[in-house]
Amino acid sequence: MNEMTSIAAQPAYSDAVKKALAREPALFIDGEWVASTHDKRIAVYDPSTGKQIASVVDASDADVDKAVAAARRAFDDGRWTGLPPYQRQRLIEKLADLLEAATAEMAEIESIDNGKPRAASQGYDIPRSVQTLRYAAGWATRMSGEQVDPAGMPTGTVHAYIRREPVGVAAQIVPWNFPLMMAVQKIAPALAAGCTLVLKPAEQTPLSALRFADLVAEAGLPAGVVNIVTGLGETAGDRLVRHPDVDKVAFTGSTEVGKIINRAATDTLKRVTLELGGKSPVIVLPDVDVARTARGAAMSIFMNSGQVCIAGSRLFAHRDIFDSLIEAVAANAAGWKVGPSLAPDTMMGPLVSDEQHARVLGYIEAGRKEGASVVCGGDTPGGDGWFVNPTILVDVKPEMKVVREEIFGPVLAAQRYDDLDDVAKAANDTTYGLAATIWTRDVSAMHQLAAKLKAGMVWGNAPALADVALPFGGYKQSGFGRESGRYGVEAYTELKTVAIAL
Ligand code: NAD
Repeated sequence: MNEMTSIAAQPAYSDAVKKALAREPALFIDGEWVASTHDKRIAVYDPSTGKQIASVVDASDADVDKAVAAARRAFDDGRWTGLPPYQRQRLIEKLADLLEAATAEMAEIESIDNGKPRAASQGYDIPRSVQTLRYAAGWATRMSGEQVDPAGMPTGTVHAYIRREPVGVAAQIVPWNFPLMMAVQKIAPALAAGCTLVLKPAEQTPLSALRFADLVAEAGLPAGVVNIVTGLGETAGDRLVRHPDVDKVAFTGSTEVGKIINRAATDTLKRVTLELGGKSPVIVLPDVDVARTARGAAMSIFMNSGQVCIAGSRLFAHRDIFDSLIEAVAANAAGWKVGPSLAPDTMMGPLVSDEQHARVLGYIEAGRKEGASVVCGGDTPGGDGWFVNPTILVDVKPEMKVVREEIFGPVLAAQRYDDLDDVAKAANDTTYGLAATIWTRDVSAMHQLAAKLKAGMVWGNAPALADVALPFGGYKQSGFGRESGRYGVEAYTELKTVAIAL
C-alpha cells in the first residue's frame, strides 16, 4: 500500500459477483458453455486494487473455428433469418428485459473489471445497453428493400426491386473502455438485421460479455446465433478477422489495430466497419456562460477517466475567456473525486490497466518536457490501483505529442484562439475526425463552424450527445461506417438488385 495515498479501499464485492468470478473459464459457443481445447488463460484484474480477480480462456485457433462454424450453421440453416421478423424483435426485447433485470450485478461486474465508478455503469453503461437492444429490436420489423422503376427500359416491362439481406456471419471485436455497451452496440443491430455473430471482448475486460452470454441463453435465442469467445487480439482476434466463413468484421478500438484488421480482412474482401480513435476538439466562443461550459468541458475529458474515443481532449477557447474558462475547468476538476470503482462517492475511477497508467503518465511527462504547463493534476493520487488525477495542460503548441496523439486518459490540452476561421483550421489539423463540440449562443457561428469541422459528429452546447438513433462514427483515421440508428443496422446488410423482364 502506498503510504501517501488519498485513495479509499475498494468496498467488498457482492456474493453474486463473487460467484460469477469463481466460474470455470469457458467459451459460449452454439448456445452452451464449452471448455477450450487448450489450457491457456488470461488474468483479469480489478484496476482499483491492481489485484487479479478472475481468469478467462485465451481461445485457441480451434476454439475460434468452432465458434465461427456454429455461427455459420446458425446463419445458413435459417434458424434466425427464417424467423418472422416480429419473433426476432421479441427475442431481442427479451434480452433487453433480462439485462435490465440484471442491472445491479452487471454494473458491479463492469466496474470491478474496467474501473469505472459504479454510478456510471449503473446509471449509464447498462441502461444504455438496454436501450440499444430495445431500439435495435424495432428495426427487425422495419428493415426492408424498395421497388425502383428502371430508367432505360420501357415502363411496365421490367419489374425491379432491391432486397436488403443480412450480410451473414459477423465477427465483432470490441475494446475495454465501455465493455458491455460496445458489445451490445454491435450485437443488437446485427441481430436485428438477421446476422449471426461471434463477439470477442477485450482481454482486459471480458467479464460482462461472458455474463451477458448467460442472458442470451436465458432469452431463448436459437443456439449459435450469438457466440462469445475470449482471447487475445493478435491470436483469437486475428483468426476471426481472417476466417473465410466470416462475412463482416465490425471493430472498435485503436486506429493502429484498425489498420491491421482492415489489411487482414482484405484477403477475403470482408465487409469492414471501423470505429477508431479520436482527438476531438471542444471549441468555445467568447459569448458563453463560462461556468456551464466549464462543467461540460470537464465532463468531455474526465468522464470514464478520459478513456473515451470521443473525449474532448483538445480545448480551443477564445482569447477573451481563456483564463476564466481554464480557472473554472480546474475548479470543476477538483470536484472529480478520484477513488475505487465501488465507493459511492467516486466520480473518477482508475485507468483500466497498469500499461494504460504508465502510458498516460508518460504523455504528461512528455508534455512537460516539450514546455506545457500543468494547471492541475499531472500526477497520481497514490493507492494500489491505476489512478491518475484529472489533468489540464496549457502553453501547449500544435506540434506537441499531447496535442497530436490520443492519450486516452484524463488529460486536457488547452489552447487560445482569436479568429473563427483559424480555430476551424486548428481543430481540423489532426489525422482523426471522430467528434467535435462547439459552445456558443451565436446560432449562425454554430452552424457555420459545424459545417467546417471534419468530424463524424458535431455537438453543440453539451458534451457527448451520442444517441442510439443517431449515426456514430468518424471521418479520416477515426474509421469508416456508422453504428447506431438506421445506418447501424444497414451496416449489417447487403443490397441485392432483382430485375425481371415481364
Ligand atoms: P485495441 O485496438 O488495442 O483493442 C481493441 C480490440 O481489438 C481488443 O478486443 C483486442 O483484443 C483486439 N485486437 C488487438 N489486436 C488485434 C488484431 N491484430 N486482430 C484482431 N483483433 C485485435 O484498443 P484498446 O486499447 O482496447 O481500446 C482503446 C482504443 O479504442 C482507443 O484508441 C479508442 O479511441 C478506441 N475506441 C474507439 C471507439 C469508437 O467508437 N470510435 C470506441 C471506444 C474505443
